Amino acid sequence: MANEVVMFKKIFKKLKEVELKEKGFEKRYPLKRVSAFEKKEEFKKIFLEQGERNLELMQKIPNRAKNMAYFDEIWKLEKRVKEIEDFRKAGGKVIGTFCNFVPEELIYAAGCLPIRICAGFYETIEIAEEILAKDICPLIKSSFGFKLVELPYFSLCDLVIIPTSCDGKKKLGEILSDYLEVWPLELPNTKDSSQSKEFWFQEIKIFKKRLEKLSGNEITFSKLKKAIELCHLRQVVFHRFDEIRQSTNPLISGRDALLVTQVSFFDDLRRWTEKTKKLCQELTENIKKNLGIYPAQTPRLLLTGSPIIWPNYKFLNIIEEFGGIVVGDTFCSGTQHLYNPVEIDEWVMEEMLKAIAERYLLPSICPCFIESNDRIDNLLQMVKDFKIDGVIYHQLRLCQLYDLEFYKVKQILNRENIPLLRIQTDYSQEDIEQIKTRVEAFLEMIKSKKYEFY
Ligand code: SF4
Ligand code: SF4
Repeated sequence: MANEVVMFKKIFKKLKEVELKEKGFEKRYPLKRVSAFEKKEEFKKIFLEQGERNLELMQKIPNRAKNMAYFDEIWKLEKRVKEIEDFRKAGGKVIGTFCNFVPEELIYAAGCLPIRICAGFYETIEIAEEILAKDICPLIKSSFGFKLVELPYFSLCDLVIIPTSCDGKKKLGEILSDYLEVWPLELPNTKDSSQSKEFWFQEIKIFKKRLEKLSGNEITFSKLKKAIELCHLRQVVFHRFDEIRQSTNPLISGRDALLVTQVSFFDDLRRWTEKTKKLCQELTENIKKNLGIYPAQTPRLLLTGSPIIWPNYKFLNIIEEFGGIVVGDTFCSGTQHLYNPVEIDEWVMEEMLKAIAERYLLPSICPCFIESNDRIDNLLQMVKDFKIDGVIYHQLRLCQLYDLEFYKVKQILNRENIPLLRIQTDYSQEDIEQIKTRVEAFLEMIKSKKYEFY
């Protein structure tokens, strides 16, 4: 009997070891590195110029909130890059993240800094194509190119975490691991089965341990509680921001709203919360003063599909320069990035970790999961809440997930009589004229319906 107990303990220990194995990439076949560092200054200049061109258009919007000035400034790299460099010099670790499955609360609790490094910059794509296949989505190539050129913020990351959300991301992880440390975060294929939840919970626990090892800081109860509370404050402010966007008198453009959200990818958490709170206060005042940015009958649009990321706002510029307004989005690089809070039932470590695991899995509407019903529920709910006149489906070329899902979305929106336009595009400027023509026709169609009521 004693022998059986010892054997059982051994098996149990072995099982636990397997369960908590850290995932990574072996360095058995390292590849020769490609570098385009010499292009860094040239590309940085182009990146900043593209941003400035967006801002020139955005700043012409009548009654634009004055508090947008902070967000106009902070993306310009200089200030924030310096702050992050100082953080690193003082021994802090910067963790690059992709998608929105990586629990920021744990990163903050370990004393590290998360930065989302999904990129929207066309120029870095060609360089990335020296290694990556041409036929993969521009988001992946653009982001990888940032590393090859060593552009901020990628250049400031000590390591990168890549969720296994699509095939492109999985392989990006492996290729990137020749350049810097990469931790894959393995996602289940479904969200709500008990096996999936348990699998993901273990993944989060491993993640916590690795963060502790990396930073040398134990994630204690009080540190985690504080990080959850800080992120929660950000969500409270973001909810207010989202509510304001529902106003029938449009107060903020879709471009400004996305810029505010995407500054949170790299900005100081407390400062972003404070600045967005101020912006919300100003917008609330503008409601009282009836200071809308566009006429109330402007077609209200909801954007869905593949993420749009600064400075690639060509699509948003077209929509809003041609007489529409984007009042809501379902992007993982937009509303989905900040909307869902960690909900704690009981303030004990295990429950806090469970709540974090749930927050980053259950509300996700990323198309990487087997079923798309949640996405469609969310879309229909937003159409109602934001009083949407039409939905625009933004599909990045070569993103199979959004391509495959379109058929279902189309059928359901058609059935509900909700106007829908699908635009397939990439980060280049070549299709601008074609997109303009299609967007213009779509807006005209919506207007002709809408004006009947005015
Ligand atoms: S849609 Fe999903 S896979 Fe694509 S970037 Fe967003 S979270 Fe990642
Ligand atoms: S846009 Fe599509 S292909 Fe590209 S990373 Fe996201 S899910 Fe993957």
